This record gives sequence, C-alpha cells and structure tokens, in this order.
Amino acid sequence: MSFIPVSRRHCLTLGVLCGAMIVFFCLSAPTHHRVYALDHHSAADGGKGDRDSKRGKRKQRHADMSELPPDESAEKRELDSLGDGFRLRRTNHYSILYNTSEKDVKVFSSAIEKTYRSCVNYTQRLGFDAQVPSHKLLIYYFDEHPEYSGYSEKLGNGPREQSTPGVYFPLLNRSMFYNFQNQETFKRAREEAEARIDDLRAQLRRPGVSRDQRRDIGRQIAEARKQATRSATVGSDVSESIVQHEVAHQVLWNIGFHNPKNFVANPRWFVEGTAMMFEPISTGSSANFGAVNTTRLDEYKRLLAEQRLIPVKDFISTADHFATKIDVAYPQSWALIHYLNRTKRSRIRKYVELINKRPADYSPSPQQELADFEKVFGRLDENWVESWLIWMARVR
Ligand SMILES: [Zn+2]
Repeated sequence: MSFIPVSRRHCLTLGVLCGAMIVFFCLSAPTHHRVYALDHHSAADGGKGDRDSKRGKRKQRHADMSELPPDESAEKRELDSLGDGFRLRRTNHYSILYNTSEKDVKVFSSAIEKTYRSCVNYTQRLGFDAQVPSHKLLIYYFDEHPEYSGYSEKLGNGPREQSTPGVYFPLLNRSMFYNFQNQETFKRAREEAEARIDDLRAQLRRPGVSRDQRRDIGRQIAEARKQATRSATVGSDVSESIVQHEVAHQVLWNIGFHNPKNFVANPRWFVEGTAMMFEPISTGSSANFGAVNTTRLDEYKRLLAEQRLIPVKDFISTADHFATKIDVAYPQSWALIHYLNRTKRSRIRKYVELINKRPADYSPSPQQELADFEKVFGRLDENWVESWLIWMARVR
C-alpha cells in the first residue's frame, strides 16, 4: 500500500452554519506537485495481479450494483489496528469498521450505499461503464471525535478538527468519519435539554403543584424535547451531507471516474465540484442526487454579489485557489460543475477520458489545464463566462 507524506491539506468550507459553527469538508491531499504512485485497488487488495484486465472484462452496459467481495485480510488488519470495541459491518459495497451504536451505523450504512448507487448511476448516465471495484471499500466510523482524530494521526495524516467530521484519503483509499451528533455543540445542547426535562419532571412530582402550573411545566417539557430533537437533527443533516461528499470522492476514485495514477492529474475544481453534486441529502426514501445544491448555490450567489469570484480562466488553471481562497474555490467549483452537467453533459465524458489519459508523471501547468479544458468545453473567453453567469442567474 503506497502512502504519502501529507504536508498540507486542502480543506473546504462547506459554509453550513450551525449556530456559530462552520463546517469544513476535507479531502486530504498533497498540495505540491510531486508524483505519487496512487494504487487504490491494490491498497485494499494486496496483490492485484491481473485484476485490472479482469475488471476490464467485467465492464457492463448496465450499472453493476452487485455485492463486492470483502477483503478479509484487510478487514482483519484494520480491526487489529483499531483495537478493542471495534466491530465490522459489511454492506453490499463497504466494509465498515465502527464503534458506534448499531442504530447509528445502520443509518450510516444506508447513506453510504445510497451514495455508491448515485455515483455509479451518474457515471452510467454520462455514457461510460463504471469499473467494478475489486473489493468492498473500507470505511471507518468512530463514535467520538478524539478517537477519530487520534486514528488519523496514527495513519500519519495528522489530527482532525472537530468541525470536520469526515475525510477521504485518496492515497490510502480509506474514508473515515465520526458520529457528528457527538460533536460538542450538539451534544451539549442535547444534554442541557435532557437535564432541563429531568428538572421539570422533578418539579411535577412536588406536592401542591396546581393544575395551571402542571400545564405550564408540561409545555416547557415539550419545548425542551423539541430542542433536544432539533440539535440531533441538525447534526445528522450536516453529517449526512458530509458523508455523501467524502464517500462520493471514494467511490468516484474506485470506479474509474478519476485518474488513479496521480492525484494532481485530476483538476481539483473538477474533483470537488463533482463531489458537491452528491451533497444534497435525501428527503424520504430516495437519494437527492440531481437536485440543485442550494447550500452551494447560496454561497455562489453571495460570492457573485460581493464580486469575489475568481476569473474563470485563472480558476481552472491551477489548484492553488483551494489553498489560498477555499471559501471561494468550493462554491465556484460547484457552480461550474453544475453548469457543465446541465448544459454540456456529453462533453464531461470526453473530459474525464482526457484526464484519465494523463500519465503517472503528469505535472500540471496552467497552460495544459486551460488547453485541456478548452479542447472539450470550448474557448474560455468572455462569451463563455457570460453564458455561464447568465445561466447560473436562473438557477433556483
Ligand atoms: Zn472534497
């Protein structure tokens, strides 16, 4: 399994404000242009042999959602490394190493399976067959932030912020999350509401409480209950969105959508913009993939109004904006990807094919990035930008 020294990380502002809390998404990646031998499939495989050619033969016309075999030795290795209290749950496409409650891991399992299906369906809709990963994808799900952050350190990727409940490490081909409902803000709000309910119940038990007082206390208990539920709901909504974003990275990297030979061969705006399409959380029984990402749309509109968008030519020419202007880079990536998917979908496949042809020793240059973009999506002149802005102005 190849592993890289990650000196700095790209983080992105989700811009979801939960009270005073800003949530960050992270895709842990090197910022400097070195060549790294990405070997995702063998990372979980430990000896893929002619697996690639077999996978080629397994390509199918229709989306293949059949169950993947587990990599039992990798699962065992992970469980041993995680230590006491961790269990393994297998879903059709994942091996989840977790120490949350069964109830929480069940919700998590359903979110990641939905994302897997959405990613594969998306690739099919673009007109090419998703590759079938050789094994179930490995995911960690920690109950508490300290163990999540500690394990990231153990993997050599440094500590993780409490406001960043999920991350995907492309070069390790692992994603990890912690139960965001246990983020301190939500936990505290929930605990306070529960303590308030206990206190109010004790008041009810006191002798001499009149009927009016009883009714009033009853109202207060209902209100406190609502507060406890609200903090849990906000936590799980934000968490679901982040899980979908990070898992989309992992799936897209494993089904041949991104270039696995070299992380920096993949234009960062393209990688992040695509993952952001998978952020809208499900409403009801189906995933919400395909819906407008209204959180990102609002951020984009704000940037536009404040004239903070980066000139598109500069923007697609380098990944540096993700280090210097992350609050602009993410919404702007989403706005470009949304536009391209809705207006130039057939060309996305061509772009993916072009990117995937880049060799393992590809070193990005602004000239090459711009040339490849223009080759597929047309000359990036004032007209192009104006068409994009006009089209985006109508998005609701
Ligand atoms: Zn990302």
